[in-house]
Amino acid sequence: MEKKFVYADNAATTRVSDEVLKSMLPYFTDYYGNASSIYELGRNAQRDIEKSREKVAKAINASPSEIFFTSCGSESDNWAIRGVCERLASKGKKHIITSVFEHHAILHTCQYMEKHGYDVTYLPINKDGFVNPEDVRNAIREDTAIVSIMYANNEIGTIQPIKEIGAICREKKVIFHTDAVQAVGNVPIDVKDQNIDILSLSGHKIHAQKGIGAIYIKKGIVLPNLIFGGAQERNKRAGTENVPAIVGLGTAIEIATSDIQKKAEKVTAMRNRLIEGILKLPRTRLNGGIENRLCGNCNISIEGIEGESLLLMLDINGICASSGSACTSGSLDPSHVLLALGLKHEVAHGSLRLSINEENTDEDIDYILEVVPKVVERLRAMSPLWEKIVKEENN
Ligand SMILES: *Cc1c(COP(=O)(O)O)cnc(C)c1O
Repeated sequence: MEKKFVYADNAATTRVSDEVLKSMLPYFTDYYGNASSIYELGRNAQRDIEKSREKVAKAINASPSEIFFTSCGSESDNWAIRGVCERLASKGKKHIITSVFEHHAILHTCQYMEKHGYDVTYLPINKDGFVNPEDVRNAIREDTAIVSIMYANNEIGTIQPIKEIGAICREKKVIFHTDAVQAVGNVPIDVKDQNIDILSLSGHKIHAQKGIGAIYIKKGIVLPNLIFGGAQERNKRAGTENVPAIVGLGTAIEIATSDIQKKAEKVTAMRNRLIEGILKLPRTRLNGGIENRLCGNCNISIEGIEGESLLLMLDINGICASSGSACTSGSLDPSHVLLALGLKHEVAHGSLRLSINEENTDEDIDYILEVVPKVVERLRAMSPLWEKIVKEENN
């Protein structure tokens, strides 16, 4: 078997595309002005930031005045939760509703708020990885400040019933935030139609660079700053603008949202082949339902192996993948998302996430399907856990 290189970890980050890079390069060398400067070089930078803002707004059917650039998806998430809580504190609103399987940018912010006297309700997910909108309705209280439910999960790819949840929040007059970092460019988003008040997005999951994000804040909602300093971003988010990154995000989001349907068809076909191929192995299961799932997400538990060992063996074979989420690899805690699905610890440990996108090819899928069964067989042959499973099965 000839060794190839296959990148199948696009939920962790993506390659900066050629078009994005090309659009950014002049802003390092020729148009390097500070966007706050009065002379033409600066004014041009400001103008191009505004063009990018228009592209981000258009991608989610918002107005440019509702978009603020941030340093990343995590900053947008922090700003949403902390900003809304601070804004509504004087009204006695000290309750947050979120879910158990959010990204740590949300969960750790909520834990911080708990330390500061807030009450947080963590809604469960069902066995297929979905939040029930009725649970949101039942959890809303007089003192609820914000509901924050992610649009699509980064580990298992399940796309949540955002419009329904948004409608309930509207009805109950509670602010609704969604972490759409994984959804943008994969799912058509319309903040007006879907009743979204605040939305977080990030560049590096859609072929822009790492370290650029944005937040949509619906007109009429005024959040206190998270970062103070200069007057950038209409006084709401200080720090000299990262002009090349902002321009790159504009290019990336325009491309990513231009033909979601066509891209999804191609990627879904490859993804389904991956899932079907790996599920042929005995004692494997797909994590998260197959319906309403991000087109590039494949997350499978493989009993009798350790996820970390599997990743190392895949790496030796040139395949980049993930087990749990990128942030948790390196720690021995099994993924909070897989545990929330009801998986036992040892099953959650043996999980493999392959996240593909339109840059992957049928040959990539062939190669993964050639390597994974061989590697699993080898690991199981050495595994006392697998020996035990086989013994129990034969009894
Ligand atoms: C990657 C990711 C984030 C964090 O975005 P950064 O730009 O890396 O800070 C937040 N939420 C979800 C769902 C993600 O996948």
